[in-house]
Amino acid sequence: MVHALLWLNEAEIYRRALDRAGLGKILDIQTLRFDQQPSAEHLARTEFMIARGVPPGTLARMPRLRWIQSLTAGVEGWTSLPDLRPDIALTCARGTHRVQMPENILGALFHLCKPYSQIVLDQSERRWVKRVSEPLAGKTLGILGLGEIGRELAKKAAALELRVIGTRRTPDPVDHVHQIYAPQDTDAVLSQSDFVLLLLPLTPETENFMNARRFKQMRRSAYLLNFGRGATVVDADLVEAVQAKTIAGAVLDVFRKEPLPLEHPFWTTGGITVLPHIGGLAAHRDEIVAALFADNARRFLAGDALRELVDRPRGY
Ligand code: NAP
Repeated sequence: MVHALLWLNEAEIYRRALDRAGLGKILDIQTLRFDQQPSAEHLARTEFMIARGVPPGTLARMPRLRWIQSLTAGVEGWTSLPDLRPDIALTCARGTHRVQMPENILGALFHLCKPYSQIVLDQSERRWVKRVSEPLAGKTLGILGLGEIGRELAKKAAALELRVIGTRRTPDPVDHVHQIYAPQDTDAVLSQSDFVLLLLPLTPETENFMNARRFKQMRRSAYLLNFGRGATVVDADLVEAVQAKTIAGAVLDVFRKEPLPLEHPFWTTGGITVLPHIGGLAAHRDEIVAALFADNARRFLAGDALRELVDRPRGY
């Protein structure tokens, strides 16, 4: 029997998905809550695992481990582990945010252009103030990191008559995207965009990517939206750019440290909206990831290629 470890609080959802795929009887499945510790013996025999993360040194005690399924699309928490051996396949949850991420990002764009939050404040004081909204149609959305989420968003944004441009590493065209640029030509996207959206994975190349020099390439009327990873932005440079009106403002869903520390200036800088990392949340998210996990488990047992395999040298 192949030994699987489901090490997360929602383990039962993942076990049921394995059962539905007909794998329950041919696997030896150990389920643990995230705050529990597997025994040395369990670690030693586990061949594949799904977990939110593991304490440092855990993987070194798992000599038979051949595959890890990450719960998230971003995998920097796994790739930064020194004991993640090259022979362990790492798969991510790319593709499981198809609906919620584009919708939440569109919500942020509407928040920036429409006066609803102001009107809710007006209502609380029974004020009848006619406020004019900005159209999204005709504006340019520049997406840095045109991957799975960016492509889905581009489709929806194009339907709203936004002009979408962006960057990715491979230059192949993307439907609904007017023009694709290479990472080294990011400045061309920054200078044309009304909204600069970061959907970059966190890699050595993208860490601290949005710095003072790049904020200066943006339009003064433009907004930054970060729904990728917090460490792709230099926090102090962003605060300075917003305060100095180098850019109009920012909506941030991701941060270097989460929850965002109480003393962090993002909380209080006018023009910066802080979202508590809600972009990828959905009521049935675990069901969606569990379906991917079960499909990958079937492939793993059959010796077939795994879906959403992380390219380890690239880091995403
Ligand atoms: P994905 O499909 O792997 O897309 C990543 C994209 O980034 C790819 O298009 C890749 O180019 C591009 N890229 C990589 N390095 C780049 C660079 N230096 N410059 C420009 N583009 C670069 O991932 P995804 O599912 O769209 O997710 C994107 C990121 O969003 C994740 O890594 C994760 O950190 C974050 N995320 C956040 C939330 C949230 O709740 N806020 C939820 C889900 C994901 P190629 O296409 O050429 O490979």
